[in-house]
Amino acid sequence: MNRRTFTKSLALSAATVGLGGVPAIARKPAPQFSITMDDFHWHNAVKLTPTERNQAILDTLHANSIKAALFVIGRNIDSDEGKQLLAPWDKAGHMIGNHTYSHRNYNASATVIEEYQQDILRAESLLKDFPRFRKYFRFPLLKEGDTAAKRDVMRTFLERNGYRNGHVTIDNSDWAIDQRLTARLKKDAAADVKPYRDFYMEHVWMRAQYYDALARRVLGRTVKHTVLVHFNLLNGLFLGDLIAMFKSKGWQPIDAEEAFRDPVFTAKPKVLPAGESIVWSLAKGKRAIAKSLRYPAEDGEYEMARMNKLGL
Ligand SMILES: [Zn+2]
Repeated sequence: MNRRTFTKSLALSAATVGLGGVPAIARKPAPQFSITMDDFHWHNAVKLTPTERNQAILDTLHANSIKAALFVIGRNIDSDEGKQLLAPWDKAGHMIGNHTYSHRNYNASATVIEEYQQDILRAESLLKDFPRFRKYFRFPLLKEGDTAAKRDVMRTFLERNGYRNGHVTIDNSDWAIDQRLTARLKKDAAADVKPYRDFYMEHVWMRAQYYDALARRVLGRTVKHTVLVHFNLLNGLFLGDLIAMFKSKGWQPIDAEEAFRDPVFTAKPKVLPAGESIVWSLAKGKRAIAKSLRYPAEDGEYEMARMNKLGL
C-alpha cells in the first residue's frame, strides 16, 4: 500500500466507521424540527367545529410533548370567541406571536408603510396580555419587502419595537391542500380524506428535504427548523400524522422557542425580494446558488398539477 492509497483507506474508514465502531452515518446529528402555525383562522369551519379543531390540534401537540408557536392574525382574536379559542394555547405554554391585524401583503405596491406598522401594533395590543406572547413577528405570506427601502425601514421598526423575525425555514403549501380538502367536504361531507392526508405527507417531506439540503449547502450545517403549517382543517385532522412522519424519518421534535435560538434566525440577508424561507433568503444571497431558486419559493400553483393528477 503506497502513501496515497493508505491515506485514502484511512479517510474511508474514518468516514464509514466512527468511534467505537459506530457507523459515522448514525452519529450525523438528526435534523430537529418545530411546529410554527399561522393565522388562527377559525371561522367557516368545515367537518370540525372551531372548538373541535382547536382541541384536536392542542391535543396532538400535547400528546407529542411539543410546544409550538402560533402566529396570530389580530383580527381573528378581536372578539370574545376568538380570545376564548386562543386562551388554551396560552395556558398550554405554546408561544404566541404577531402576524399583523389584517394580514396584508407587505410587498403589495399599495402598501403604506406607516399604516402597515400600525397594523402590527394593533395586533400587539390584542396579544400582549396573553402571558405566552413573545415579540416574534411573522410577515404574512412571508413577504418582507420588495424594495431595499421597504425592507430596511421595517427591519428598523421591528428592532425598535423589540421584535425578532419569526422566520420559517421549511415553507410549503399546506394551505392549498386544505383549500381542496375543504371544497371537497363542502360538496360531499362523506368524502374520503385519506388521499389529502397522503399528499400532505408527500408534499411536506419533499419540501423539508429541499430546505434542509439547501441549509446544509448554504450554511454547511442543518438548522433548528421551523416548519410552517396553518390553523386549518388539514392540520385539525393530520398534524399528528405529520409529526409522526418526521419522527419516522429520524427527525427530532423540539419546541418552537428552542428552535428560534438557532443563530440562523438573526440573519438579515440583503436580498430582494426579501422574505420567503430564511434558508431561501440566505441562498438568494449566494450568487452560485441564487440562479437555481424559484420565486415565489412556494405557491399553491406549483402543486396544482400533482393535486389534479391525484384527483384532489
Ligand atoms: Zn399568514
